[in-house]
Amino acid sequence: MFQPPAADCPLCPRLCAFRYENSRAYPNYHNAPVPSFGKIEARILIVGLAPGLQGANATGRPFTNDYAGDLLYATLLKFGLARGEYACRADDGLELIDCRITNAVRCVPPQNKPTPAEQATCRPFLQNEIAAMPNLRHILALGSIAHQAVLDCFGLKKSRFKFGHGAKHAISDKITLFDSYHCSRYNTNTKRLTTEMFEAVIAQL
Ligand code: URA
Repeated sequence: MFQPPAADCPLCPRLCAFRYENSRAYPNYHNAPVPSFGKIEARILIVGLAPGLQGANATGRPFTNDYAGDLLYATLLKFGLARGEYACRADDGLELIDCRITNAVRCVPPQNKPTPAEQATCRPFLQNEIAAMPNLRHILALGSIAHQAVLDCFGLKKSRFKFGHGAKHAISDKITLFDSYHCSRYNTNTKRLTTEMFEAVIAQL
């Protein structure tokens, strides 16, 4: 059975210190590893980078109240992978349909940048979660760090599976990895990722 990190997970000293700092500055925030959202029986797993300080770290649900969540949840609703209303709160009643959302790193990192050591330390949680999903067929990596985290979970080399927006990789006999640029504010503001480009990837799922 999948064991998520404990609320006071001690594995990354820098992230623990940041969590402590945030729990003093924002006592009403979640300030703990953010649990995945959606059923373990889902066929699709969406992997983000890490919780945002005022978003998932505040609300306790991936991408919730994060700028990136506006495009992600609107698109999932549009393509029938979610139902209800997304209202930037973990208790908005939104339901995911046959998909689950998680992050490569589960605690909020300073400046949204987890170090390579933090990515490696958090990876077993992703690996165990993937192994615990009995019906998993598609993984969507949002950004190159999520792509790398998934490859590492499968012991695969990035020279064989290059990250690219819209790329599709058969990473096991059952599982296909899809790539998208991350739906971050930076990528959407600079038009590196447009709504149409993001929808085109989600439509394939
Ligand atoms: N919020 C998340 O939970 N993950 C991301 O990758 C970005 C924002």
